[in-house]
Parts: sequence; C-alpha cells; structure tokens
Amino acid sequence: MQFNGQVAIVTGASRGIGRAIATELARQGARVLVNYQSNATAAEAVVADITAAGGSAMMHAADVANEAAVAGMIEAALAQWGQIDMLVNNAGITADAPMMRLKPEQWRAVIDTNLTGVFLCCRAVLAPMRARSYGRIVNIGSLAGLAGNVGQANYAAAKAGLVGLTRALAREVARDGITANVVAPGYIETELLGSIPTALRQWATDAIAMHRFGTPEEVAPAVAFLLSPQASYITGHVLAIDGGWVMP
Ligand code: NDP
Repeated sequence: MQFNGQVAIVTGASRGIGRAIATELARQGARVLVNYQSNATAAEAVVADITAAGGSAMMHAADVANEAAVAGMIEAALAQWGQIDMLVNNAGITADAPMMRLKPEQWRAVIDTNLTGVFLCCRAVLAPMRARSYGRIVNIGSLAGLAGNVGQANYAAAKAGLVGLTRALAREVARDGITANVVAPGYIETELLGSIPTALRQWATDAIAMHRFGTPEEVAPAVAFLLSPQASYITGHVLAIDGGWVMP
C-alpha cells in the first residue's frame, strides 16, 4: 500500500489503459480521481470496482483540451482530498488518415487532446505539487511518437511532442521534488485499436518479439512504479512497453 494517503488524477480512466492504471493505484492505497470525457457509465463502473475493493475514488467529467474544464477538475480533487500527488495524462484519441488525406480538423483534434491536454493538466497540478514539494507525473506516449506510424502523422506528432514537453518539464520542476516521465506503449488490446486490419495485426504480431499484443494490466504496474516514492531519481525518462517490438 505504498500510496496510502496520496491522491492521483488519471485522465481517460473510464476505459482501457487508464482504467487499469486507476485501479492499480487504488489497489496500492491511492485516492483516485477517475477522469473521463463522455462515457459516464464506464467511469461509474471503475469507481464502483475501486470502492467495492475497499479503495477510494471519485469520477469527474472534463475534456482535457478545455482549460476551464481542467481547472474545474483540479479544484474538484483539491476540494475532496486537499492535495494532488500524482498525475497520469492518459486520455488520448486517434483520427487516422494517410498524410495526403489528413484533414486539418483531424490534425487539430488529435493535437488538442493528446498534446494540448497534457500541457493543460501538467500546468494545472504544478501549484498544488509545488506547495508540498512533491509530485509524480507520468505522460502516456506511444511507440508511434518514437518510431512513427503509417497513417498517424497527427498522432505521432502529438506523442513525439509529449516527449519534448515531459523532458522540458522534468528539467523545470526537478528542484521542486517533482518528476515527469513518459510511458510509451506499443500495441495494447483496448477499444482505441478498434478493428485494425487483419494484415496489420499479423504484421505487428510477427514484428513483436513476444508475438502478441499487450494488455492494459501489463502497462499499469510500470506506471505505478514511476509514480512511486521509490522512483525518486528517475525523471525525463521514456519507458517503452511493447513486448520487445521497436527496442529504440
Ligand atoms: P481508449 O480509447 O480505450 O480510452 C480512451 C480514454 O480517454 C477514455 O477513458 C476516454 O473517455 C478518454 N478521453 C478521450 N478523449 C478525452 C478528452 N478530450 N478528455 C478526457 N478524456 C478523454 O484508449 P487506450 O486505453 O487504448 O489509450 C490510452 C492512452 O494510451 C492514450 O493516450 C493512447 O494514445 C495511448 N496508447 C494506446 C495504445 C494502444 O495500443 N491501445 C498504444 C500506445 C499508446 P470516454 O470513455 O469518456 O470516451
């Protein structure tokens, strides 16, 4: 129960990887704000699971790309629990198309959620973290942001930008007892993958050393470690979790 007494905000925690992270942090004793955008039923289920297991959680709808909504989310966590120790920027979307057909609105939607959202949430937690000279931030990147991916120029740009943002932030806040790291998953079985073409699934499965996609439960413990007090000398790091695919 290494997170006893600590408070975490996990964005996009109603489903997929975010849900697994929120559940893992609560299992280890954290009080968790389960953020989501629109799927209240799914968020309710996450909070119900956590409380049924003896943990503490609250749900809060907020579009991470909306500055006022992010401010409201931080205020809600502080009003409920009085502190914020951990932030996981996990909310993310895709809007894939080959570059020739990529519409500006697809570009903006992905940059807004996957990069601007990370900026807004990181900025919003700095004051409460600085006030207590302690904080742990993990931003969920992607292998696409390190290696690129066909049809994902918008997504890859946002995720690569997230690495630069995290490293700049890590340098800025090191003196305040705050760390900032990136976890970059490869292919993880969630709704985000949707129905990827069979040929692409086969190609990826062949290329991955473990010859399978990962699960959200295989990502969450690594995120929890980077959020732990023990990870006090790790900052600006990018940890790939990809079953031995890219090995950057
Ligand atoms: P899912 O599609 O399963 O879940 C996405 C989550 O993000 C949902 O909780 C959704 O809320 C929330 N969300 C989406 N947009 C917003 C927004 N604007 N504001 C707040 N919440 C939002 O995604 P995954 O679990 O697969 O992905 C999680 C993260 O991991 C993403 O950043 C993704 O890019 C990254 N990733 C995923 C990989 C994979 O293979 N799955 C690989 C590499 C990286 P709601 O339920 O309300 O819609």
